[in-house]
Amino acid sequence: MDMADNLHDEIRLFGIGGSPGICIGKAYIVDKEGVDIVSRYAIEKKDLKDEVKRFKAAVKRSKDDLLAIIDNTPDTLKQHAYVFETHLQLIKDKMLYGLTIDTIEKERVNAEWAFKKTISHIKAMFQDISDPYLRERAEDIVQVGDRIMRNLTGATRVNLADITARVILVARDLSPAETSQINLKRVKGFVTDRGGKTSHTSIIARSMEIPAVLGLEKATRTIKNDDLIIVDGLSGIVIINPTEATLLEFTERDQNYAAHRTVFIRDSHLAAVTLDKVELKILGNIEKPDETKSAISYGADGIGLYRTEFQYMRRPSFPTETELFTHYKETVEALAPKPVTIRTLDINGDKAIDGNNNNNREENPALGLRAIRYCLKKPEIFKTQLRAILRAAAYGDLRVLFPMISGYVEVMEAKALLYKVADELEAEGIPHNRDIKIGIMIEVPSAVFLAETLAEEVDFFSIGTNDLIQYSMAIDRNNKEVMYLYQPMHPSILRMLKHVTDVGRKTGTTICICGEMAGDPFYVPVLLGLGFQELSLPPQSIPPVKSLLRALNAAEARSFVDELMVYKSAPEIVKALISRYGGILDDNAYLEAEANS
Ligand code: PEP
Ligand code: MG
Repeated sequence: MDMADNLHDEIRLFGIGGSPGICIGKAYIVDKEGVDIVSRYAIEKKDLKDEVKRFKAAVKRSKDDLLAIIDNTPDTLKQHAYVFETHLQLIKDKMLYGLTIDTIEKERVNAEWAFKKTISHIKAMFQDISDPYLRERAEDIVQVGDRIMRNLTGATRVNLADITARVILVARDLSPAETSQINLKRVKGFVTDRGGKTSHTSIIARSMEIPAVLGLEKATRTIKNDDLIIVDGLSGIVIINPTEATLLEFTERDQNYAAHRTVFIRDSHLAAVTLDKVELKILGNIEKPDETKSAISYGADGIGLYRTEFQYMRRPSFPTETELFTHYKETVEALAPKPVTIRTLDINGDKAIDGNNNNNREENPALGLRAIRYCLKKPEIFKTQLRAILRAAAYGDLRVLFPMISGYVEVMEAKALLYKVADELEAEGIPHNRDIKIGIMIEVPSAVFLAETLAEEVDFFSIGTNDLIQYSMAIDRNNKEVMYLYQPMHPSILRMLKHVTDVGRKTGTTICICGEMAGDPFYVPVLLGLGFQELSLPPQSIPPVKSLLRALNAAEARSFVDELMVYKSAPEIVKALISRYGGILDDNAYLEAEANS
């Protein structure tokens, strides 16, 4: 895993495996620069009409681009196209359009300059507005402005849907919406300078099953157009100008990976039962209702985490009760009789609707008005979702999960609202089911230490290690600089997991884990040994995790976890894990975490 093989200018870049799989192909650099340098020049009076025409033509081209993107979005990804619908509405915005034409005519300046002035003016207006939807719109205006400006300046903007050769995209960053526009017939994979494993872009890439390496920092500076590159989304490596030997090695790895997946998938609808007959339920994490299909096809025993917040983002207004009810009902019916766990709105923090939700931009969004705090502060928004959940619960095994619980009062307040909503539905004669299982995310350290008290109030715990590690280690989960401290095998994290699982067993509370580590086979022996009854993971990870569990022995894993408690650091624990389970993991080409470490 070092910088060996550096012959014939072969260069290896190490990033974060965003989405597993290997692809080999020509690099295609997505240029996102070049629109900021706009100069001002005077337009003679007689040419003003033409200048306005030029601006109008750029707007028309931008509109056509957007319409084409929307039209070409496959049905399965339509959910992501709403951002372009919003852009389409904004393109016709009077202020954007009228003000620019006014400036061209009055100041007799070039269209680019006038347009840039309009955009800065609009941005300034939006800056002091506290309303989250309006500020979200400001961001949309900037993006629409970027598109129009490119059409105006003639700067080449890659339309991801238009790429004709089969290439690997190399970009500084790709938004989730852009990622969803990738034409899988044309694009083999992608690499970006920014982003991380838990970024929404990664999540979308995984749901599209396209190999991706993110957070490379200097990919766009190092890789040139048409360079031959290898992208290994499993171990997070990108190789530029690979030697013959490397090409052969990765082609083989790719074939092995594909062969292993075929075997895993063949058996993935079977239960995950260990050698000593302990059964674990392997559930899927989804972000959108249409992902239920892939969860089902990969053999999910239900949905363990439905991240509902993505339905609230990048749209002019929050979804209505009917819209939410329809989505939840569809999901619960598709999975029935298997369970569906709907996590209530976990908005803000790293999933900010706007990065601001008081009257001022939050200094520390991850420590701010996020998740249950936001919902309890905005009961009307919360109640709308709770009503939809209780109504959908009449159609299958639906469970509710409250995120970011830090203590007892939050649980009691959330439950009180849930029952209040149930009373209201009853009084209104609307079909619903109030008798549903209630769970809380254990992802804030205070909840870990209060687990015994909280267990009296809920039916299940779901441990969110993405945040539990963030909040315990005091690291921003999106900050690459402190990523080295993101250690699921840190002794303090292991002790927390042990404490919560012990409490779960003692109190009869079902214990699930739904952080990203649950989908990484490397940690599965430890999770089995800790006694988790349910693991919830990205659907594509279900087949390998189920397959691995079938090769493990739960009693052995339990005593192994007891042995781990003596170690003082994460590297020691990782070493012990490799020395005990490396063989099984290696045999099955599972060593994702080790390869990344
Ligand atoms: C977690 O924090 O581990 C989790 C599953 O939730 P999210 O990644 O959505 O914060
Ligand atoms: Mg979380």
